[in-house]
Amino acid sequence: MKVAIIGTGYVGLSTGVCLAEIGHHVTCIDINEQKIDKLKKGISPIYEPGLEKLLMKNSSDGRLQFTTSHQEGLKDVEIIIIAVGTPQGEDGRADLTYLEQAAYDISTHLSSDTIIVIKSTVPVGTNEYIKKTIENLNVNGVPFEIVSNPEFLRQGSAILDTMKPDRIIIGSENKTAAKKVRDMYIPLKVSIVLTSIRSAEMIKYASNAFLANKISFINEIANICEAVGADVEDVAKGMGKDKRIGEAFLRPGIGYGGSCFPKDVKALLHTAKLHGKKFKLLNETIAINDIQQELLVKKAIKRFGKLKGKKIAMLGLAFKPETDDMREAPSIKIANLLTKLGVKVVAYDPVAKENAQIILGNTIQFVDSVYEAITDVDAIFIVTEWEEFKQIDLEKILQKMKHPIIFDGRNCIEEEKIWQCKAVEYYPVGRPEIV
Ligand code: NAD
Repeated sequence: MKVAIIGTGYVGLSTGVCLAEIGHHVTCIDINEQKIDKLKKGISPIYEPGLEKLLMKNSSDGRLQFTTSHQEGLKDVEIIIIAVGTPQGEDGRADLTYLEQAAYDISTHLSSDTIIVIKSTVPVGTNEYIKKTIENLNVNGVPFEIVSNPEFLRQGSAILDTMKPDRIIIGSENKTAAKKVRDMYIPLKVSIVLTSIRSAEMIKYASNAFLANKISFINEIANICEAVGADVEDVAKGMGKDKRIGEAFLRPGIGYGGSCFPKDVKALLHTAKLHGKKFKLLNETIAINDIQQELLVKKAIKRFGKLKGKKIAMLGLAFKPETDDMREAPSIKIANLLTKLGVKVVAYDPVAKENAQIILGNTIQFVDSVYEAITDVDAIFIVTEWEEFKQIDLEKILQKMKHPIIFDGRNCIEEEKIWQCKAVEYYPVGRPEIV
């Protein structure tokens, strides 16, 4: 099939390379010229495991193209996928500005019988609104159909998730259009759920809200575990073995961040409010997460008293491992809190340095290795669970710090290693401290 994708970000680019990989002819469109220039040279503008390899392979096989021109990219395509951002707007509502612009771009270059697929996360009713918007702009009355196809990939494993998703949701009021979108995905051989457009839109928000709930739930359990002397890792393992609960997303830590959960949870609350509903549980999920992001700072204050004049190494800046995305990363709040308290922060992340510098500027110091970051600091904060930090060499830490104190916000260092290295003070989340 001939497919165009509008918006070549984390979702659009991953979708584009994977659709090309399964045999479609894909043109990815973006308004960001620098991004498109890089992609034309086979360079990925984002860090995502496995992406660059597929990008180069499918570009050289002639199935994947990039352009900043909507006219060129939308010419004679059968399916247009919209994957532009829907960031948080006023009062928590989803900001649809980019989507409206994409609708305008489409309407001026629409060919007959195209199917427009909205992959961006959008509030219930948005597909209908965009359909009407395009109809109103589409002066030549070219026929088209709209299909909701929300995305569930996780950054850090976007390629794997796109090639092997748990399910694909296709929401449509038109059977022929739904079938065509289903056919596009057939080579993936995965479970496809056909629904109405409104249900498809809701499935995305309900899923993200549920996952955010699961995170805040286990974090609250972690905090109680600390108070009563239980170990949350054992508790989560024991709970997760129950198939009704499941092991995924029961990882205690310093809260969720990223470009999706924070904004999607707020957008669902906004939708509920618009319809006179109170989603009390979700309000608590957000409140718990906000407090949880401050946990390491509170633990450090408890340990040191005043933090003014201390030097702390932050290991990890990205909101999760295997990505360079800094959107709503807990590290931002932690860095700001620490600097406000007069702490000198030295930070290291394997790939997110550049993006972090844009947000944090020179308020903190950025370095290029773990061991550079920890030299002569008073404490280490582990903020993102990169594999590199799991494998940290405690003996080497002992050479760089007189008395290593580690606040592990992701419980990523094996406790056995800490026990063996007797000189380390260790403060995990929801587990007994080792001091
Ligand atoms: P992103 O910010 O990484 O990418 C969006 C891209 O769209 C940008 O490159 C931007 O330049 C481009 N763009 C904006 N307007 C355009 C236009 N008129 N024409 C062409 N390009 C345009 O966003 P993302 O993280 O890929 O998210 C996209 C959507 O998918 C959002 O609604 C998000 O909620 C949803 N989503 C994201 C993820 C994720 O993990 N990032 C997962 C599932 C769903």
